[in-house]
Amino acid sequence: MKIEHECPQCGAPVILEETDRLLSCNFCRTRLSIQARDCFHYYFPPADNVKEDVFFVPYWRFRGMHFLCITDRVEHGLLDKTVPAVGSRSVQASLGLRPQTLKPRFVQPSDKRIFLKPQLSFEESYVITQQKISFEQVTVHKDLTVFESFDIPITETIIKEDVLFYESFIAETLSLLYAPVYIRDAVVYDAILNKPASKHPYDRSLDLQGAGKNSGTVFLPTICPNCGWDMIAERDSCILVCPRCSSLWEASAEGFIAADFAVMGAVKDSTDIMYLPFWKMKVDVRGTNLRSYADLVRYANLPKSIQHGWEESVLYFWAPAFKVPPSTFLMLSRQITLLQPNKMTDNNLQGTRICPVNLPKREAIESVKITIASMAARKKIFFPQLNHINVECVESLLVYYPFTETKSEFIQKELRLGIQKNALKLGQKI
Ligand SMILES: [Zn+2]
Ligand SMILES: [Zn+2]
Repeated sequence: MKIEHECPQCGAPVILEETDRLLSCNFCRTRLSIQARDCFHYYFPPADNVKEDVFFVPYWRFRGMHFLCITDRVEHGLLDKTVPAVGSRSVQASLGLRPQTLKPRFVQPSDKRIFLKPQLSFEESYVITQQKISFEQVTVHKDLTVFESFDIPITETIIKEDVLFYESFIAETLSLLYAPVYIRDAVVYDAILNKPASKHPYDRSLDLQGAGKNSGTVFLPTICPNCGWDMIAERDSCILVCPRCSSLWEASAEGFIAADFAVMGAVKDSTDIMYLPFWKMKVDVRGTNLRSYADLVRYANLPKSIQHGWEESVLYFWAPAFKVPPSTFLMLSRQITLLQPNKMTDNNLQGTRICPVNLPKREAIESVKITIASMAARKKIFFPQLNHINVECVESLLVYYPFTETKSEFIQKELRLGIQKNALKLGQKI
């Protein structure tokens, strides 16, 4: 999906990819980091000849990794889906090809249009769409969760004997896409095509009163808050790097927040070294007794005898901070978590070649549960408990590891890891 926008500085038209977090204007050379308060909000403009009062219906747009814990294994795939964020049968259940063929625009804070609030989360709507439950059966009550109101068993059978115990969505992008509609003769009309949006008359299932203030998009100059230097940002970076004062900044709608980081065993001035970023997370896992490294050794049934001190050593979870296909993502998260590296580090990035961070911390935390599931030695026994496990991040650190670049791979000898260059290339397209 491509987004149409005007350069906030000079007004020149700019076309952005949906994953872009950097607006770089070809005319005035302005570079701005694009941020949103919760998620990005886009809208399709209505057709010019619409006379009625238009309002906007929200759809979730998800692009990212999808993990499923089924019976005794973890399956994964990539998902690219647009699903309604309201449970009304008087609007379209799908936007069809619009995300591919039309260019939406950013919802701006000054927008006075009426944007309806989402009633369903992406996960809820996805489950409904997948299980082919028609929206006719849907009545969403404010105080009930969707599962309670529909009585959908979460443990739905996929293939006859297989049971889906848990699924997780690690978003590279999760945004709200608003489609314009209007009401004529008690029917909701699609304001792009000027046709009825569904065969059902409007049943008041859309909460028109509840349309709240929209949270718009924020544009921030990519200047280091510490030294004023121009920071390095790739088009999809969520962390910006100041090469001058060697600092890292997490972009948010409130501005740039200094990010803690560490650099592992630096072999400086080597041209074939590339530093790849990983999230190291100390988490509180409620519902399991995974607290120490000794717990992990037992849980994953590692061929090791428990050493002195392992019962007390804090357990850290790891995840790549860059985009790769789900199989590589899970392999890296699991391998490093099982190794629990704890070497001394420094925090100087000067003169190093680094791979940009484009997988946010929020998503890395979300992935911990899948990493836990994939490490379980006794998956059949453990998976039914997955829905009762809660993961809360206590602290996190961005850690750069040096990888040696070969023709087709990045290799980390100490961690015994090899990442195909192709996997990083494929990750760019997610
Ligand atoms: Zn410009
Ligand atoms: Zn700086």
